[in-house]
Amino acid sequence: MEQILTADGRAEALRQLPALLLPWYDTNKRDLPWRINTDPYRVWISEIMLQQTRVEAAKEHYIRFLRELPTAADLAACPEEKLLKLWEGLGYYSRARNLQRAAKIVAETGFPRTAAELKKLPGIGDYTAGAIASIAFGQPAPAVDGNVIRVLSRLLGDGRSPEMLKTAFAEELAPAYPAQRRGDFTQSLMELGATVCLPSSPLCLTCPLFALCKTKSDALPARKQKPERRREDKTLLLFRAGETVALCRRNDGVLKGMYGFFAVGASLSDAQIAAFLRGAGVQNFEIGEKRRHKHVFSHIEWTMLARVIELPDEKQLAAADETAGARAIGMPADTEISPFASLKYFTKAQIEADISLPSAFRWCMELL
Ligand code: SF4
Repeated sequence: MEQILTADGRAEALRQLPALLLPWYDTNKRDLPWRINTDPYRVWISEIMLQQTRVEAAKEHYIRFLRELPTAADLAACPEEKLLKLWEGLGYYSRARNLQRAAKIVAETGFPRTAAELKKLPGIGDYTAGAIASIAFGQPAPAVDGNVIRVLSRLLGDGRSPEMLKTAFAEELAPAYPAQRRGDFTQSLMELGATVCLPSSPLCLTCPLFALCKTKSDALPARKQKPERRREDKTLLLFRAGETVALCRRNDGVLKGMYGFFAVGASLSDAQIAAFLRGAGVQNFEIGEKRRHKHVFSHIEWTMLARVIELPDEKQLAAADETAGARAIGMPADTEISPFASLKYFTKAQIEADISLPSAFRWCMELL
């Protein structure tokens, strides 16, 4: 790596970016559905979707979402279950709820045009505010995400932590914004990070910044040690009564407010499942098929065992008491157990059409 740049050297390097990146962007940008125009609503939805989702996975969702909810007013008025169904598969459902909260404000007052005002809306942080302000409103507002941090840390040979770089780049990049095509400049930096300056093995020989770059490799930025994921065991009981299947809304923890299957926060044997159900007051049931599955969230990993529980009818669980069931098998009082009273029955067709079932549970549908 070459010598670290002075403050003036950094500013000069950043000033050269528009002239190098914009022509490259014109010939190399990917054809993506959110690039059809720079309508603030469309930009906003795409940026929120792309926060935790790969471009390929987001494309289809984006098109469907915009078809169903083409304006902020449509999003503001959308029933929650329909909204979550449109978000199904994207995960991090709080994003969808925040979108709707913000849409109710935008539908009343219109879109704010500056990053500072945009940040006052629910779910919009520094990055998204910069992206909307520059792409939709032509403001010189940097949008510094992981891609941009990676490009600039390598370009300037700056090995500080990503957290420090984020603040520094947001300040240093603003004066480098060109007078025209500010949104394209924001997108060109993102695009370079996504397609050329890759996390490992960047394509330096094809990079428009090659001559300027101080690193020309993946040596920067410093890699963060990721904290270990917490591991949790779960037993999912898939209650089926003829044609219908029981789901409940999760009342706590990850996926709070989302539909899922009846869950016990422990790995239970068949004998323990039977004792739990009998202890809870369920007399007529049959334990059916099983499947195991692992689901990884950003900070938690669930190891799950799903068992189909066949019931003669939907009334079987009406008076069931999960606390008594837990006592019957000596389960610690703080173990997560779904309340029987929260179960609702749906046909498979209803679940497919109307219910947003997170991918942490969706795999269970193959058993039903
Ligand atoms: S030359 Fe290589 S490391 Fe430098 S910005 Fe381009 S792709 Fe990234």
